[in-house]
Amino acid sequence: GGFESLGLCPEVYRGVKRKGYRVPTPIQRKTMPLILAGADVVAMARTGSGKTAAFLVPMLQRLRHRVPQAGIRALILSPTRDLAIQTMKFTKELGRYTDLHICLLVGGDSMENQFETLTQSPDIIIATPGRLMHHLSEVEGMSLRTVEYVVFDEADSLFEMGFAEQLHKILQQLSDTRQTLLFSATLPSALADFAKAGLREPQLVRL
Ligand code: AMP
Repeated sequence: GGFESLGLCPEVYRGVKRKGYRVPTPIQRKTMPLILAGADVVAMARTGSGKTAAFLVPMLQRLRHRVPQAGIRALILSPTRDLAIQTMKFTKELGRYTDLHICLLVGGDSMENQFETLTQSPDIIIATPGRLMHHLSEVEGMSLRTVEYVVFDEADSLFEMGFAEQLHKILQQLSDTRQTLLFSATLPSALADFAKAGLREPQLVRL
């Protein structure tokens, strides 16, 4: 099972090749077919395992083309500004042959600039929970109802950093028909409870 056997569209496949990925990493080999088939997945994976591409490649394959009036279609939640910026960079690289629009919502950047990008109806939002909630409370008409693909990245860190309440609030704003993915190095009980509340019959992937 290499990347060529996943049935990726040419735009996404070219992005993967251009990034220099030849062979999927073990976590990618195990998660990508499940995610592409539409399953909710809890993946136990550390930084360095190739976990970011494991959720970005199927996301790009699912979204594929920009749909300007569709609202936000994919949401990636990161525990830190640095991780969100890194994920944004990977998304742009892997998605370079797509026309998808991405918006980064993190602390430390001006709210004004982020408002501006939000008005251009991005397909993908990459955010830290605090800044996302801030925008949701300030921007009239901003909604997560249209989101079809959600990733909780480094979910154990999201919890350790005290975002549990915000994460539950975010869950409440999502539609029931979304696909949800949770990537985490560890699975403490609070996180397992969150997965039970937020994911639908998730497949558990360990290395
Ligand atoms: P991550 O675990 O997502 O932080 O990725 C760790 C590093 O592995 C990053 O530099 C990725 O670009 C790289 N990487 C991810 N998937 C592959 C792959 N299939 N082949 C080679 N490098 C990869």
